[in-house]
Amino acid sequence: MRNIKLTFLALIVFSTCNHKIIMAQVGHNDEKFNRFKSNYLEDLWYHNPEWATSVGYHKYDSVLSVNDKVSRNATLNFYSNYLDSLKKFDLKTLSENNKTDYELIKNSLEGSIWYINEFKSYTWNPAEYNIGGTFSEILYSGQYPEEERLRNISLKLKMVKQYYKAAKENLNNPVKDHTLLAISQVEGSKSVFNEEIPSVVQKSKLSESEKKQLNERCKEALLEIDSYIAYLKSLKFDNARSFRIGKELFEKKFKYDIQSKYSAKEIYDIALKRKQYLHEKMYDLANKLWSKYLGNEDKPKDSLLVIRKVIDKLSLQHANVDSFQIAIDQQIPALVEFIKQKKLIYIDPSKPLVVRKEPAYMQGVAGASISSPGPYDKNGNTYYNVGSLSGYSKEDAESFLREYNNYTLQILNIHEAIPGHYTQLVYSNNSPSLIKSILGNGAMIEGWAVYGELMMLENGYGNNSPEMWLMYYKWHLRTVCNTILDYSLHVNNMSENEAMNLLIKEAFQQDAEAKGKFKRASLTQVQLCSYFTGFSEIYELREKLKQKQGKEFNLKNFHEKFLSFGSAPVKNISELMLNELK
Ligand code: ZN
Ligand code: ZN
Repeated sequence: MRNIKLTFLALIVFSTCNHKIIMAQVGHNDEKFNRFKSNYLEDLWYHNPEWATSVGYHKYDSVLSVNDKVSRNATLNFYSNYLDSLKKFDLKTLSENNKTDYELIKNSLEGSIWYINEFKSYTWNPAEYNIGGTFSEILYSGQYPEEERLRNISLKLKMVKQYYKAAKENLNNPVKDHTLLAISQVEGSKSVFNEEIPSVVQKSKLSESEKKQLNERCKEALLEIDSYIAYLKSLKFDNARSFRIGKELFEKKFKYDIQSKYSAKEIYDIALKRKQYLHEKMYDLANKLWSKYLGNEDKPKDSLLVIRKVIDKLSLQHANVDSFQIAIDQQIPALVEFIKQKKLIYIDPSKPLVVRKEPAYMQGVAGASISSPGPYDKNGNTYYNVGSLSGYSKEDAESFLREYNNYTLQILNIHEAIPGHYTQLVYSNNSPSLIKSILGNGAMIEGWAVYGELMMLENGYGNNSPEMWLMYYKWHLRTVCNTILDYSLHVNNMSENEAMNLLIKEAFQQDAEAKGKFKRASLTQVQLCSYFTGFSEIYELREKLKQKQGKEFNLKNFHEKFLSFGSAPVKNISELMLNELK
């Protein structure tokens, strides 16, 4: 709690300093707006306890939010009321920092209302009802004493029955793919209740009777979880809803989630052009490398096949199942060193990055990811979650390892860790705006990581070797094809065959990667567009600033300045940075 108060204090002090320079009237409105933000966050957490937990705000850890009609209406009321009071502020009188916070809050409120009233995934996506993650976060949060956390868990467990009752009532002809995902993920979440919590309870300082009660409640929760799984397994899918959400919902979701200056259709068109451009670059490089890797073998007439053959040879250089995690571990210090040497961005040495095996409740969607401490938990660890290959067949593991070969594994680390997500999130949590840390824009976050890949190579990472560039382009092509795939599946009715053709033939992916990507694209919407959209907008901003600043432009300053705004939409950061130039 102490931590939180300090954060708010810092926030107020910061904007006080800012507005004194401008004029008294503005200062007054900023103060009012800062109070509005504090109240808004407090109410936001009250209505979204699991979200609160995930950002490190633990006041509502003992509450499990039950998604029934009554609570949905209460939440809708809260959003509409705040939207009304937000609109009473005159945007022009606020500081630049508060202007972007205003836009973020407005977008979040409008988006949240749209999600409940129009998108309604709580009626068709059974995977939304998985409590493993939130319980696990409380269990392992080091922010307050263990006994208190366990008592909160105990109270929260009491509501599992109502939680799954509401889930069954909400679901109405759910999508088959999401139902199958739910069955496997909810099944995976059981280890939290039959292994993880009981083992912490066992070693804890709780009284024997408290321990007994907690273990009982875990068992009851497990019964509810099993009953939910049985319910999902009993569903029939003869006339099931399609996973494709269609153009209207896709454009709207894109608008709220991505907050780009582009529409979904516009970014889809840009991606199609980029794919063309990359194919040309790659063909040049593959021609250059042909004889080195394929000797006297005849070159195919199909240029995509020429590229494919060279990539396949390069992909044979890879780690094995057991050394995969070690290989990642060893690359991190090398990246830090390169960035220091080239003066690309300041990296705070006091924030540790821990490589770990992906926890069970996260399995099923991506290969590697970052979990960072929330804005309220500045001292927590940042984890680099690496998916285990233990569930893979021998062939699938080999396919996966070729995809993440010695070249692309380095780019993965650049993307996920340094200077990608890990670095960005450290900056984001230091940003003076709690709102920007919390309502973080996914396209900015992903766009930064994707931008970081190109930026590292531009600065000589990989010694400018044609091999590294070719494999980078292949990697980048994936981001581009993510956008094409996402839009095509949900809006253009692309078939599974066409999708596999795009991923394997045109994006040179291995089977396992392509299959996984298709699965992910059918289980999610819009998120796969965030990478390329954010990248395009950041790159555009950098080139614009370079042009305007000329000799004054400094890459390190640009990176640090860009990240200092926190995870705001790139279009807002661009506005702030370009304004400052005037
Ligand atoms: Zn191999
Ligand atoms: Zn990413």
